[in-house]
Amino acid sequence: MSPTYDVVVVGLGGMGSAAACHLAARGARVLGLEKFGPVHNRGSSHGGSRITRQSYFEDPAYVPLLLRAYELYESLERDTDRDIATLCGGVMVGPPESRTVAGSLRSARQWDLPHEMLDAKEIRRRFPTLTPADDEVALYEARAGLLRPENTVAAHLQLATRHEADLHFEEPMLRWEPYRDGVRVHTAENTYTAGQLVICPGAWAPQLLTDLGVPFTIERQVMYWFQPDGGTAPFRPEHHPVYIWEDAGGVQIYGFPAIDGPELGAKVAFFRRGVPCTPETIDRTVRDAEVAAMADQLSRCLPSLPGRFLKAATCMYSNTPDEHFVIARHPGHPESVTVACGFSGHGFKFVPVVGEILADLALTGTTAHPIELFDPRRLSAAPA
Ligand SMILES: Cc1cc2nc3c(=O)[nH]c(=O)nc-3n(C[C@H](O)[C@H](O)[C@H](O)COP(=O)(O)OP(=O)(O)OC[C@H]3O[C@@H](n4cnc5c(N)ncnc54)[C@H](O)[C@@H]3O)c2cc1C
Repeated sequence: MSPTYDVVVVGLGGMGSAAACHLAARGARVLGLEKFGPVHNRGSSHGGSRITRQSYFEDPAYVPLLLRAYELYESLERDTDRDIATLCGGVMVGPPESRTVAGSLRSARQWDLPHEMLDAKEIRRRFPTLTPADDEVALYEARAGLLRPENTVAAHLQLATRHEADLHFEEPMLRWEPYRDGVRVHTAENTYTAGQLVICPGAWAPQLLTDLGVPFTIERQVMYWFQPDGGTAPFRPEHHPVYIWEDAGGVQIYGFPAIDGPELGAKVAFFRRGVPCTPETIDRTVRDAEVAAMADQLSRCLPSLPGRFLKAATCMYSNTPDEHFVIARHPGHPESVTVACGFSGHGFKFVPVVGEILADLALTGTTAHPIELFDPRRLSAAPA
């Protein structure tokens, strides 16, 4: 006899761990299957920090989801007693007409979000590590800050287990098929039957969701840690914001305060400058020329940061062509399969609300959250 569940969740990274948690908390019998161990560094949810913010330059349609995500992150911290969110404030810097500044302002105004506009002089006065050009401005948001991805995933796994989900690590799904009113899921160890399947594959979407018809691009991204000239004291989160900085050529970098003590420096990265890869072929070695390019970009806007290079690590983005997410019932299997993928390098701040949405979709077929923007049919060549 195959073990039977209400829902099988495939992939227990950022999104899948949240889905397993929300489903189990609502009383569903949940099996979570993960290819690697708990909280690993081979997908998209590692590296110590992620930016969170509400004045969302990508599209104002994300704002209601962010407001809910902030509430859920707060309760996740409370329920698990883990250090997850540090709302140290954030600046979106660039020319006034840049997407980073103008787009953030548009969302702030549309949703009446607390924010301040700072000119270059005021940016330098408040945040002396930042050296904008005279024609650059910033939107400052006090509620922006950072999230700790490993602690987030660990917290959701902890709560899922507390609510009696079965979580199987090092047990990848090999394939699945429709079976009776639900699905049958195969691993090397076993075959499981379930009413519902929720697939949260991260960078494995091109392999696990070929039938979705979405042209994903998986991208290698690099995170860099530097020891600032003069030490980390000015970079401490009590007085240093997170930042996203777009230059006149449209290149965006983003970075964090020094959150892990004086020895571990501060993290910075290019937002969208990856090269295509696959989870199997990604080059995990970071070259000197890449470190030099990062240091060069910083020399203009945070000149004290690239004092001494400490380390680098790679991570993957799963991009859709329009960089909006895919969260929906699977158009080819609308009765029994739900998908969450294509988070395009900006999904982490949404993790708990995506978990809530996936639980809604799997258990009721619908959700009250606004997810119209994330319908995969907008991208697929194939008819649904
Ligand atoms: C360098 C970097 C910086 C980022 N910065 C930010 C930021 O500042 N703010 C922000 O909001 N977002 C940011 N993001 C994006 C965010 O981290 C991702 O959108 C999010 O982590 C994606 O979560 P996921 O669950 O889709 O993927 P993952 O966490 O990778 O989870 C997918 C899981 O599926 C598992 N899996 C795959 N195949 C199988 C199988 N066959 N069977 C079982 N399990 C399987 C994998 O092992 C993996 O654990 C960043 C991403 C990167 C890489």
